[in-house]
Amino acid sequence: PAFHALPDLIAEHARQRPEHPALRCGDETLSYAELDALMDRIAAALQRDGVQPGQCIAVCASPSVRYAALFMGALRAGVAVAPLAPSATAEALASMLRDAGARLLFVDTDAALRLPAPEPALPRIALDGAAAGRAFGDWLAPAGTRPQPVAITPETPFNIIYSSGTTGTPKGIVQSHGMRWAHIRRGATYDYGPHGTTLLATPLYSNTTLVVFVPTLAYGGCAVLMPKFDALHYLQLAEQYHVTHTMLVPVQYQRIMALPQFGQFDLSAFRNKFCTSAPFRADLKADVLARWPGGLTEFYGMTEGGGTCILDAHRHPDKLHTVGQPAVGSDIRLIDEAGHELPAGEAGEVVGHSAGMMTGYHGQPEKTREAEWFDATGKRFIRTGDVGRFDADGFLTLIDRRKDMIISGGFNIYPSDLEALLRQHPAVHDVAVVGVPSAQWGETPVAYVVANAGAGATAAELKDWANQRVGKTQRLADLRLVAELPRSAIGKVLKRELREAYGAAR
Ligand code: ATP
Ligand code: MG
Repeated sequence: PAFHALPDLIAEHARQRPEHPALRCGDETLSYAELDALMDRIAAALQRDGVQPGQCIAVCASPSVRYAALFMGALRAGVAVAPLAPSATAEALASMLRDAGARLLFVDTDAALRLPAPEPALPRIALDGAAAGRAFGDWLAPAGTRPQPVAITPETPFNIIYSSGTTGTPKGIVQSHGMRWAHIRRGATYDYGPHGTTLLATPLYSNTTLVVFVPTLAYGGCAVLMPKFDALHYLQLAEQYHVTHTMLVPVQYQRIMALPQFGQFDLSAFRNKFCTSAPFRADLKADVLARWPGGLTEFYGMTEGGGTCILDAHRHPDKLHTVGQPAVGSDIRLIDEAGHELPAGEAGEVVGHSAGMMTGYHGQPEKTREAEWFDATGKRFIRTGDVGRFDADGFLTLIDRRKDMIISGGFNIYPSDLEALLRQHPAVHDVAVVGVPSAQWGETPVAYVVANAGAGATAAELKDWANQRVGKTQRLADLRLVAELPRSAIGKVLKRELREAYGAAR
């Protein structure tokens, strides 16, 4: 099928089913007709302010109906959106705003408090009540209700996402309408519309959310946004709105499945659930498949668009330890430390080529070159920094992130092996293993453990228990009990913080 731009698809739904809800959040709802009209006014206001197609606006706010409408309205004007994480430090936000070259900044009250002082060059508009800056309604009011039509092509930028910064400074990744169209087409497999309802409890600045949010609107479904995740509230909403689709990160699945009330909710409307962003344990996938109606699809990929694999878990219950097979149009290879392609069956760094690959990091040609790999024919791939291996059926197993791998006395230690071992101990609720500097070994593994409530095991006992079960080179130098693991807003364990904390505590 030919390319369609998301704003045009929304206009089509507004014509066909004007009253159908498009967006819900808290007690607010926008129908397709209302969304479409608001998008027109937003696009007209951006044009009045001289924001050109191809330029971008930044939004730093919690999910809301207005935020989602602003995103779609900007797209109608051909303007890209840089959605920023309100949880980022003021310093990181300032650098992202500079990097993106945003023409306007939209904030909510919470975000405004954390942001650096407003700059005259970057007008600030308050999305909600009383945040510093011009009120959204005042900004919108003087503009017309009909924007000038703008041609959107597959190359038109859709958003700039700052990668979650799990391993270092955030990098701006430009994603185009063409890449989003690829996600929309893939949605045809997952039975989204037109009477679908998608429940989203992850932030709008993450690709994790957008890969499901965009197809929901493209197929005329309703997106229910949860500004803050709470497992019980999630289940209440899922039942109330007869939710058919969702995207959750692994810790969210874990919290939901652990609720004693889980079985009391009617989840029979679910057609498909999605997961991505961090390792999803096979036993947790099995539990979701067993107790939660509908399919379960795991995506493995990166915001950069390299290396997309898909596991339709309901179709491959024997492959739950993998992240599935390369998606249509994705070419995934494995390379060694020297950048040579590896033969089948060997473990190496995952590099991926896909239709939706980024052209580069925004304004960072050096970082872009570091992220690229070319095969013998000159085909361009993106390095993922993940270590993986294909099985004989072509399913990819991820072993670890390269930056997290520990090199101790010349041996490679995969933290994930030690984590899997420690998880077998009944006192262990959660665990992260990181490498810390060692005078003797170069690096040595240290475990951070969250113990189950009421479990009596001490740190020394757990460490001995683990060390009796591994080879000499893998032994833990230390094990610390902590109340929780540091996680990014999207639920990834921040190993960098654990390494830094370990160094600082010594
Ligand atoms: P940064 O690049 O700034 O350090 P990040 O890599 O965490 O942050 P993303 O692009 O959002 O930011 O995440 C991509 C990474 O997330 C992948 O490289 C991989 O390590 C991990 N990931 C994504 N999907 C899965 C999955 N299904 N299973 C395990 N890990 C996953
Ligand atoms: Mg990354």
